[in-house]
Amino acid sequence: MKYRAVFLDRDGTLNEEMGYINHIDRFILLPRVGQAIRLLNQLEFKTVVITNQSGVARGYFPESLVLFVHQKMLDLLKTEKAHLDGSYYCPHHPDIGVPPYRQNCRCRKPGTGLIEEAVRDLNLDCSQSYMIGDRGVDIQFGHQIGAKGILVLTGYGKGEWEYYRDQWEVKPDHVALDLYDAVQWILQQECGR
Ligand SMILES: [Mg+2]
Ligand SMILES: [Zn+2]
Repeated sequence: MKYRAVFLDRDGTLNEEMGYINHIDRFILLPRVGQAIRLLNQLEFKTVVITNQSGVARGYFPESLVLFVHQKMLDLLKTEKAHLDGSYYCPHHPDIGVPPYRQNCRCRKPGTGLIEEAVRDLNLDCSQSYMIGDRGVDIQFGHQIGAKGILVLTGYGKGEWEYYRDQWEVKPDHVALDLYDAVQWILQQECGR
């Protein structure tokens, strides 16, 4: 049996968008995120973070910080009785920095390299899954993996939606105020099945 998943962008979706999270103190969970993920846990969706962290390639912070921030994210969620089933990141950039971080990788969203890893690790069915993020690239990525895409209006979401949506090749299946609102919509879809 395969599991359904909700793939989650990190910055601007789970935590406050601050440009680059180049210090642990800049990682601040957005309101209602704990509640939202707890609900997904109860609905038995696998919750999987998929994030581009090109700040590593750009030399803004060491790769170890990504793991450190991930641990903080898990700890904060734990205090709200919520958990993540996986977290995958791309530290690369196609033309900035030095190899191996500078490379045309397959894992930078909207590339699907990270998803292939997650699907193998967690036995997921993308066609029954959702992708939630605050940028057009997240929606494109969701479409590419065959999941439904939800744009949240936190982080870069509002600006992306207001000024760039006409340029998007793929429209979101839903636009939500924040992660909690997005999960409420998923709940409705599930009830209608
Ligand atoms: Mg984001
Ligand atoms: Zn990569």
